[in-house]
Amino acid sequence: MSLSKRAQSISLSVTLALDARAKALVDAGRDVINMSVGEPDFPAPQAVQDAACAKVRSGDVKYTPAAGTRALRKAVADHVGAVRGVKYAPEEVCICHSTKHALSGAVLTLVDPGDEVLLLLPAWVSYVEIVRIAGGVPVEVPSRTDCGPDFAAIERAITPKTKCVLLNSPSNPTGYVWTKEEVRQLSELCERRGLWLLSDEIYQRLVYEGESFASPVSLSPAIRARTVILDGASKSYAMTGYRIGFAAGPREVISGIERLHSHLTGAPNAVSQEGYLAALTNGEPPEVAKMAAEFDARRRVLVDALRELGLQTPWPRGAFYAFPDVRAYLDERGTRGFCEDLLEKHNLALVPGTAFGVDTHVRLSYALALPKIQGAMARLGDFLRQHPRRAHALAAARS
Ligand code: GLU
Repeated sequence: MSLSKRAQSISLSVTLALDARAKALVDAGRDVINMSVGEPDFPAPQAVQDAACAKVRSGDVKYTPAAGTRALRKAVADHVGAVRGVKYAPEEVCICHSTKHALSGAVLTLVDPGDEVLLLLPAWVSYVEIVRIAGGVPVEVPSRTDCGPDFAAIERAITPKTKCVLLNSPSNPTGYVWTKEEVRQLSELCERRGLWLLSDEIYQRLVYEGESFASPVSLSPAIRARTVILDGASKSYAMTGYRIGFAAGPREVISGIERLHSHLTGAPNAVSQEGYLAALTNGEPPEVAKMAAEFDARRRVLVDALRELGLQTPWPRGAFYAFPDVRAYLDERGTRGFCEDLLEKHNLALVPGTAFGVDTHVRLSYALALPKIQGAMARLGDFLRQHPRRAHALAAARS
């Protein structure tokens, strides 16, 4: 008896696997600092907790419609409209179990076997697998050295089989925030070449330095008509364990996702829907701005420390990740070996760049308290100073 080829070909999410490993080591008594997973270390806002508890206590925790409750679809539509400056109707929103679930629903709705989907590297770990699960062909497109888009490379990657481009701004793992002009250029390219634009906007609330977040849907009705927004509660409202998100886009796509999910998952979690509704109504919960300000402060400390250690690190303006270049320290095992040694010898868990399609950088999540970040930098510093390739790395940095 063997598993399906599909099941055999899927690997466990590297971010989740590393998080599980780091947590298991902590449980076993090891003093590990875990900068692997991207998960806010704050509790969900009080209003969310209260609404979820009230829902449980009401006893009325039943199936909801497959695309979510009317009230939440409307609240999300209003919120999407307010943040992006475009009107959305509740029928243009499908509530899903997470943004990951929304993305996989959109990909399964739009991508036929053999269709190509452009992934702009470095790209979040699950994109490749989700496209493959749908029978699509992930096409990885390199970016500029500052992690911004390389439009010539994107144009070159388009073939008659290309169906979608996946945009993720602010980016996981780099923190790069696309400028409005870059979003416009990609959107117009999609329009010209007849492509769908899947816009993963899960980090839209976490943009620093006043640089505004740009969504393709704000640009024109024509671009809005070929864009599916994927977003959710996990990062903005520290609601990772609630597993709740949404897809917003043209009605036929949303209805396709709804039909699909009606068979695969039935309906999104009723308790989490109430929590999300509370997060979206009566104004933004006060905890959110505080959390974003704290991420911003940590970001500066972390990136300054990485640069002080001699690691070239693109300046991240959004999300909660830094993505330093460690290639001078790599042996034949690449970034995976670098991260294994760091965890083994110095109890610091990071994510190797291979998880995101590039074997030159590593990802650090700064969704953990400042003293831990400072402790982590001390460990990384020790690791680099004792590293067998230290002299080589210092010479490379000077040249
Ligand atoms: N998106 C987060 C990360 O990249 C959570 C884990 C996951 O789903 O990959 O770490």
